[in-house]
Amino acid sequence: MEISITQVAQGIFKVGPLKGGHMAPATSPYLVIGSKQAAVIEPGEDGQVPGLMEAIKLCGVDLGRVAYVIPTHIHFHHIQGVPLLLKELPKAKFVVHPLAAPHVIEPTRLIQSTIEAWGDKCYGPFSAITQNRVVAAEDGQVFDLGRNELEIVYTPGHAPHHISILDRFTRAVWPGDLPSYGDPGHPRMGHDIRPPLFDLEKYLKSVQRLRDLKPSVFLTFHDWGVDFSPEETLTWNEELHNALARICREGMKQKASFKEILRRAEEWQSAREAMPVGESGLAGGLFGLIAFLHRQDPSLEMPAGATPLMR
Ligand SMILES: [Zn+2]
Ligand SMILES: [Zn+2]
Repeated sequence: MEISITQVAQGIFKVGPLKGGHMAPATSPYLVIGSKQAAVIEPGEDGQVPGLMEAIKLCGVDLGRVAYVIPTHIHFHHIQGVPLLLKELPKAKFVVHPLAAPHVIEPTRLIQSTIEAWGDKCYGPFSAITQNRVVAAEDGQVFDLGRNELEIVYTPGHAPHHISILDRFTRAVWPGDLPSYGDPGHPRMGHDIRPPLFDLEKYLKSVQRLRDLKPSVFLTFHDWGVDFSPEETLTWNEELHNALARICREGMKQKASFKEILRRAEEWQSAREAMPVGESGLAGGLFGLIAFLHRQDPSLEMPAGATPLMR
């Protein structure tokens, strides 16, 4: 197996992108190798586990030294491979936000909501993770690997249990699904705002929180890899979300259909990025943002045809 491994900061290695995902076809996990212990960040799906294990071996890390597996959140494409991975890494603890912990220990609801958002064809199996391997990590908690120190930064918005991870040694940050990216060399895509529990206010606060960290780089799981301009990325996302909220609110006031609101949003996005309508990356939809605006102001009704499913 040919595995690409790139050192992106001191002690931090990007693996892949690895193919084999059910939902996200190719994504990049990271290995952080401190002087005492190691960690896997953003593990991914079961099809990516063999590549990740190969990378750990190629980097010469003893399996017993991998102390933590830390995703930014528990949307399935970030964690579906974890039950398999934990079998291979005898000492590793699975670190998630306290709101996520019960749902990996008893995953019935997690699996149900995955089916609701993605349909039942595009995800693999997920078995319960035993409680003694799960660490519910609070905001500010630090995992010391020796030299590299990973700090949990609570950044809800995309999901209520979403965290970012800061390496205090290099100031590299894994921002998870908070910012949006396209394919390398292509325009940015719209952010994934389908999750029904998306919260715009919390999202915008989390954007500011990440900005205040003054990250050296963003290390992304989806496609781009290393983003050398985190500040620019955050501003881009802030503007996008504020504009989409305006478009959705206006459409909801006019009782426009979900499809029509999506069309207006795509038009706005494609004009902004100078790309054809239909390639704006909003295909994932706006369900979460619309549901948020409805929760905030129930007089704004849910538009006809609103669905979290991908088109
Ligand atoms: Zn997500
Ligand atoms: Zn994601």
